[in-house]
Amino acid sequence: MNNALLSEATPEIIPYAKVDCSGNELKYVAEVLQSGWLTTAAKAQKLENEFGNRVKSKHALAVNSCTSGLHLALDAVGVKPGDKVLVPSMTFTASAEVIRYMGAHPVVVDVDYRSANISSDILRRAIAENPEVSCLIAVHFGGAPVEMETPDKNGILDICRQHGIKLVEDAAHALPTRWNGKLVGCFGDVTCFSFYANKTMTTGEGGMVTTDNDEYASRMKIMRLHGINRDIWNRYTENGGSWEYDVVAPGYKYNMPDLNAAVGLAQFERLDEMHEGRVRCAEQYYRNLTGVPGLALPIRPECMTDHSWHLYSIKILSQAQCSRSEVIEKLQQSGIGTSVHYKPLHQLTYYKERYGLQASDYPEAETLWQQNISLPIYNQLSNQQVDRICAVLVSIVSSD
Ligand SMILES: *Cc1c(COP(=O)(O)O)cnc(C)c1O
Repeated sequence: MNNALLSEATPEIIPYAKVDCSGNELKYVAEVLQSGWLTTAAKAQKLENEFGNRVKSKHALAVNSCTSGLHLALDAVGVKPGDKVLVPSMTFTASAEVIRYMGAHPVVVDVDYRSANISSDILRRAIAENPEVSCLIAVHFGGAPVEMETPDKNGILDICRQHGIKLVEDAAHALPTRWNGKLVGCFGDVTCFSFYANKTMTTGEGGMVTTDNDEYASRMKIMRLHGINRDIWNRYTENGGSWEYDVVAPGYKYNMPDLNAAVGLAQFERLDEMHEGRVRCAEQYYRNLTGVPGLALPIRPECMTDHSWHLYSIKILSQAQCSRSEVIEKLQQSGIGTSVHYKPLHQLTYYKERYGLQASDYPEAETLWQQNISLPIYNQLSNQQVDRICAVLVSIVSSD
């Protein structure tokens, strides 16, 4: 270690993630508290309208998590017990657990080493081996778009259409992410966003589901609230507050309360500002880290703003002077928080044992996760802080 940066007695703490509620969050939450109606109502509806308009989707449904949204999506597109559903290994367990909620089986596939996304080659191979698959859950890793449609009809959505496979997008990282100039949220059969505390906007816990399909939207609306045929708000406001309702299916309790939606509305107002902050951080990382031996940076998109920059995930290569875990530890000692995305599904006990998954079948995801470190990236992170993170990182990977 050559460097005073590493021996500071009390280094400035730079957390991995930081929630920014510096807008109208308190004001809107106060409005909800004062209104006396805390659960799903006008605020959630407003967030749905604004979100749907933004991503140009006909329907947007607010839910209490992205996981709930994914569950509703699989139910709506008709995944049945015993079905096979494709899911990439390089994702959070939520993308796969919802397949088990349906009694269906995850067919876990590898990802492209460079992008950490599913590629058309991987998808075509998986379909050839499992011609009966009914659905794909595609993950826009870190906020980099999965290639949806291409001129030669070799995009992920193109291939799904060619084979009659439903496409559910796990867009937990992809707000706002663009493919061919259009925001993610208007492509697949159903798209699910997360408003978990460390995502690109938050409601504490929450999510949004978008679809252009009227049937899916109506099914998800019913299943979102106990299988009741219309939601509670309508029950109290339409038909003079009729008590009457009916249950048409054993649904779930997945609605978004207005308390959370209030936070979401304030966050949504500042989506562009917060996005610009992350784009700035990503640019600063590229400026500082491009060409550093031992590091591989995320693929730099042609247009920096097409990427949501939920994650800035780098790889520690074998040329580096220390291992990935040493890098994490030394950054921690310098007050810098990091994360790893993800321990892949094929390494998690449940999926590994239940489905007999072997690491050797996932060479790209396996290498990727052993090398991966996600660096802090958020609006309140200053360029000076990014510079410090980079200086510490460079000194770690280049000192003997
Ligand atoms: C965060 C996350 C989820 C789950 O989101 P919740 O809103 O916490 O349910 C699903 N998939 C991915 C890829 C995520 O990062």
